[in-house]
Amino acid sequence: MTDILHSPATTSESTNRKIVTPIPGPKSVELHDRRVKVVSEGVSELFPIYVDHAHDALMVDVDGNQFIDFTGGIGVTTVGHTNDAVVEAVRDQVGKVTHTLFGLVGYESYIRAAELLAEHTPGDFPKKSVFVNSGAEALENAVKIARKFTGRTEVAVLHHGYHGRTNLTAAMNYNMHPYGTGFGPLAGSVHHAPNSNPFSDGLTGEQAAKATITHLEKRVGASQIACLVVEPIQGEGGFIIPADGYLNALVDWCEENGIVYVSDEVQSGMARTGKYFASEHFGIVPHLTTSAKGIGGGLPIAAVTGRADIMDASHSGGLGGTFGGNPVAAAALVAVFEQVESRGLLAEAQRVESIMRPRLDAIKQRFDSVADARGKGAMMAIELQDPATGEPAPAIVKAVQQFALHQGVLFLTAGTFGNVLRFLPSVVITDEQLHEGLDVLEASLEAAIAATAAQA
Ligand SMILES: *Cc1c(COP(=O)(O)O)cnc(C)c1O
Repeated sequence: MTDILHSPATTSESTNRKIVTPIPGPKSVELHDRRVKVVSEGVSELFPIYVDHAHDALMVDVDGNQFIDFTGGIGVTTVGHTNDAVVEAVRDQVGKVTHTLFGLVGYESYIRAAELLAEHTPGDFPKKSVFVNSGAEALENAVKIARKFTGRTEVAVLHHGYHGRTNLTAAMNYNMHPYGTGFGPLAGSVHHAPNSNPFSDGLTGEQAAKATITHLEKRVGASQIACLVVEPIQGEGGFIIPADGYLNALVDWCEENGIVYVSDEVQSGMARTGKYFASEHFGIVPHLTTSAKGIGGGLPIAAVTGRADIMDASHSGGLGGTFGGNPVAAAALVAVFEQVESRGLLAEAQRVESIMRPRLDAIKQRFDSVADARGKGAMMAIELQDPATGEPAPAIVKAVQQFALHQGVLFLTAGTFGNVLRFLPSVVITDEQLHEGLDVLEASLEAAIAATAAQA
């Protein structure tokens, strides 16, 4: 059996997708039996396979099955699994120093990481950062900072948003299940306002912004709001791209009312959409940007970055944590930025879109159940509905995911109603891998729609 790491795919060779056992294979089944005894059932289990190793867009499970990965670990492995430069930076750093706690004894990679984020997040004012360990923790800190800066308490978020699994961020999510059910009381002072979703609401950006702003002004009062937290492209919500002008109107309203505008770029940031940060597509300049997922190239690191005067609102010792901006994770982040520059990965994300968009459009033409195809860069999606009723069709989405798994392709779902298939491949996925994955998507849709129709 050829192993991906020992036989790098070339343009003339196969994509290395290969299924050699039933799915799951015997070794995955064995690991699963051990898992269920000792791992909390609160941790979801989407795919029944266990990974052995992975490189770029290929993942090899413990049974030797090779999958083309369109999940990217939910948008984390943007520069590729085990990106050589990231691995080298990590190896080098691990041998030097793995921990001091930056607040006790500093190190260069933390500072370099903050310089890179200051340079590449939107806005040409002086910017500062704080590093933490997860996206949710970044959101927690953005809210803390905004409250301290404004002296206000209330937090505004949008319908269909997702911000994490801590107590505060669970309160900020649109979907109560599974993130908040039974875990309450969740943090208070969080207010949910209508979002913009041109596909389903048919509103212009101006109309949608008016609805959002009116809701917040009437229900909360602008002068009470510390921050408005918005994903420029809603991730878990189903890759919802707001109507033109919507985000700009929200930023203007925040400016006029002394509200801190926080752009949650945990999923959409770091080259994912063909720009460093998706806010750039909309021409908005947020006061604060949260980043995580893709910035560490697979290592856990997250940041809040933004206007220096806002970031400096906290008293010393108010921000941070034991592991925040760990030297190894910070070295990985620096390597990720270097990879984006040296390998032109913004253009690679655009290449992914240039291949995926026409094929997803053709898929939409071909299947009545595919109601929409959308996305930016390597953040693409299709939304499925029952063509007769226009109702969400999550059963087809689940069936596609299962069918594709057995064909050696990993797809993720999304959407408040579970009826979106989202594609977050590494931007270094090859053209051949993309096409092969999309061939499998098409075959899976055919099979899933037939199976669902047969059941009905
Ligand atoms: C994943 C995600 C988070 C939470 O990040 P974690 O690292 O899982 O805590 C927050 N916001 C958005 C937009 C996300 O996609």
